[in-house]
Amino acid sequence: MNYCRRCGATLTAETNGPYTCKNSHVLYANPAPTVGLFLLDEQKNVLLTIRAQEPHKGMLDCIGGFVEEGETFEQALERETKEETGLSAQEYSELTYLTSAPSKYPFNSEYRSVLSNFYVATIKNDASPKANDDVAELIWKRPEDINIDDVGGADDVRAGLSKLLEVLT
Ligand SMILES: [Zn+2]
Repeated sequence: MNYCRRCGATLTAETNGPYTCKNSHVLYANPAPTVGLFLLDEQKNVLLTIRAQEPHKGMLDCIGGFVEEGETFEQALERETKEETGLSAQEYSELTYLTSAPSKYPFNSEYRSVLSNFYVATIKNDASPKANDDVAELIWKRPEDINIDDVGGADDVRAGLSKLLEVLT
């Protein structure tokens, strides 16, 4: 953050501290919560996505996105999964928490701090996910065929996927 969003004055910040301006406005750079889901089939193949939009367009990603005001992580993930794959919560098992990871998300030529919360669930046999919304493509990958570098610069997704592979292999 460069400018105070209350008065427009230049902001200064202590290391890891809040930002302040000359008019004594204090701004905390809290991360925005985001959610990610790794859907598995019974053979432990992982359903991943290819991003249709910037940032990180064309890179490997997982189902998920920003939590909206008033939502729980679980509700946000249910909504995002429906938007991106067409799957309803009845088409996969209960969500199991995996890990969390911070990242900086490029947004309107600045960076937005996010804190991503990753979950795992198993897809039901008769469910057929279809790419939608900001997902260009859905792909099933065997854990041993997943290359973390295909994720690109999204540090949170890299960390989430690394943790998943640790658990699966
Ligand atoms: Zn100010």
